[in-house]
Amino acid sequence: MNGDLSWRSFACARRAVRTREICCEELVSHFLERIGEKNKHLNAFTFVRAGRALEEARAVDRDLRRGRDMPLAGLVLAVKDVICIKDLEVTCASNVLQGFRSVYDATCVARLRRAGAVIIGTTNCDEFAMGSTNENSCFGPVLNPHDQEYVPGGSSGGSAAAVAAGLCHAALGTDTGGSIRQPAAFCGVVGLKPTYGRVSRSGLVAFASSLDCVGTFACTINGAASVLESMAGLDPLDATSAPVGVPRYAKELARSVEGLKIGLPAECFADGLDGDIRRMLESLIEEFRSTGAEIQPISLAHMEYGIATYYILATAEASSNLARFDGIRYGKRARGNGSDVKRISTRSRTEGFGAEAKRRIMLGTYVLSSGYYDAYYAKAQRVRSLIRRDLDAAFEDVDVVLTPVTPSPGIRVGSLLDDPLKMYLSDLYTVPANLAGLPGLVVPVGTHPSGLPVGAQFLARPFDESRLLSVGQRAMELAQQAGGFA
Ligand code: GLN
Repeated sequence: MNGDLSWRSFACARRAVRTREICCEELVSHFLERIGEKNKHLNAFTFVRAGRALEEARAVDRDLRRGRDMPLAGLVLAVKDVICIKDLEVTCASNVLQGFRSVYDATCVARLRRAGAVIIGTTNCDEFAMGSTNENSCFGPVLNPHDQEYVPGGSSGGSAAAVAAGLCHAALGTDTGGSIRQPAAFCGVVGLKPTYGRVSRSGLVAFASSLDCVGTFACTINGAASVLESMAGLDPLDATSAPVGVPRYAKELARSVEGLKIGLPAECFADGLDGDIRRMLESLIEEFRSTGAEIQPISLAHMEYGIATYYILATAEASSNLARFDGIRYGKRARGNGSDVKRISTRSRTEGFGAEAKRRIMLGTYVLSSGYYDAYYAKAQRVRSLIRRDLDAAFEDVDVVLTPVTPSPGIRVGSLLDDPLKMYLSDLYTVPANLAGLPGLVVPVGTHPSGLPVGAQFLARPFDESRLLSVGQRAMELAQQAGGFA
């Protein structure tokens, strides 16, 4: 097989598989080799399904020989370890699930497999997807392939690092408050969080059910569009999945930006944003303007309450969702407890959950407790509506909203371990999309003076992923033409 890069994008691999220049089995072997080389440093995978992936690739090759083409034939995919894959351990990077195997495929996994994707392994993440650095994992931290002194972001850090290091074509992630978009920015890859309800959550281990979304990482927009196309759509197994038709995203990428209205929220470019990131985004905005887009200032007046609102609602939902891990039904059971159910459960949870998961269970239980419910939870629900209304109003005037993804270009390994609040605050640009249920896309647009990649975030109206992807495609082209904004 010739050099690494030629097979790195799904589009190239797909073409080569169709013309029989290469078979899926060879593609999988290629990625397995790269994983063998790189993963020991990066720690991006929790499990590599070498044998099964090769077997499944051979099955796809047989189908292709019999003339059965599939839209994702040739796609080598990794899956964040919070999404169920039949017969495989789903760990959520937590000791509490030790030994638990899924008995079914999540809907997204089943659909992608049916479309011809081969799953090469499961990826490391923060425990139950709680975190922004991938350091809250029972498997240890993942490192950023661009600079191993830095984290890849979180919580879907393993998925972002795997795509960035060329260990798979695409990887599934989940985004509750930014967990696809922030690591995509830190690792310099495309990260797509679809509209809430666009992709079924059936088979996703719940963190905060009203915010959780399954989405994807890829190194190209086309890759992300192809994955979304095959996994999106109504699912009878998830009552919150939306009965909205799924466009052929990958075919709609070439839309012109002439007349496109881009909204810039003043609140996102205020103090606290790294100066170089601001400069790079301003260059991108100028390029958009010169190619015919209209730039419009907008205001998201309640954005400053986003973090508080998110961390109240997300922890409340988490405390309820995580109650099922009681040492009886799933995974780890503490030893030596006799038959006292309460003690078994207390010990299993004490031993099984890591510090951040415990912190969130306690915070969430507190904001839901009688006496505090109205002051915190109910109030946060009302503020959530205000944040959604701000965005709805903005989208009456503009087609997309452009913002930074993170206030700083990167987080050094270990630097936020003792300061969870500081970690929470860094989510300020990503949580509004989750609170409002909107789709968000991050694309790499250049390299920061520190050497780390910088991403731009676009938000769009509900179910307008198609627009988002075509604008993202344009942004990447503009960045490329400029030789990467710097
Ligand atoms: N960083 C956020 C948190 O820790 C987002 C996590 C996520 O999107 N899963 O809650």
